Amino acid sequence: MKDRVFIGIGSNVGDSQENCIRSIKEMIKDGRLRLQGVSSLYRTSPVSDISQGNFINCAAFVSWAGSPLSLLEFLMGIENRMGRIRDGIKDGPRIIDLDILLFGNLVLQEHSLTIPHAELHKRKFAIVPCLEIDPQIIHPGLRRPLATFLNKIEGGQSVELIRKISLDEIVTKTQIS
Ligand code: ADP
Ligand code: MG
Repeated sequence: MKDRVFIGIGSNVGDSQENCIRSIKEMIKDGRLRLQGVSSLYRTSPVSDISQGNFINCAAFVSWAGSPLSLLEFLMGIENRMGRIRDGIKDGPRIIDLDILLFGNLVLQEHSLTIPHAELHKRKFAIVPCLEIDPQIIHPGLRRPLATFLNKIEGGQSVELIRKISLDEIVTKTQIS
């Protein structure tokens, strides 16, 4: 049984649009992951006390034939291969950030993994790309439509649409399922 998963993708170091797209290319190299959809790219303001450049964010909708922890390990492997430096600074600049936002209807709290992502309902940059893919998403922990959280988020988080990602950018013809 494959679970339907939303992965939040972000970057604010280097060529951030390219970094987001490359991370999706890396994801689909693995046979356990099947890409079902991808949001547009958005330019977003950092949600952090640290002064840093704007982020590029998007979301990928995938199915994953494994456990949530195996997906976390897999995504951290991609972050590492792409040169992510884990300096311990929370919410600091990063070349790539891959977060599991939703994993089917699962609600999970382990020391290394919280699903849905603990900040999902507070972060416009995570919610907006997911809703672009599926406007009907229900937050399984808070049991309300994800869309209802948007107007509860206080001002100051800007999320600006940049452009769609074309399938040609991320997959070769043989990989399209
Ligand atoms: P953040 O994404 O919150 O800015 P990091 O990318 O540095 O921070 O992740 C820190 C830790 O968050 C990871 O080592 C991971 O174990 C943990 N974590 C907990 N829940 C999740 C989740 N749903 N997706 C990704 N990482 C998570
Ligand atoms: Mg992360």
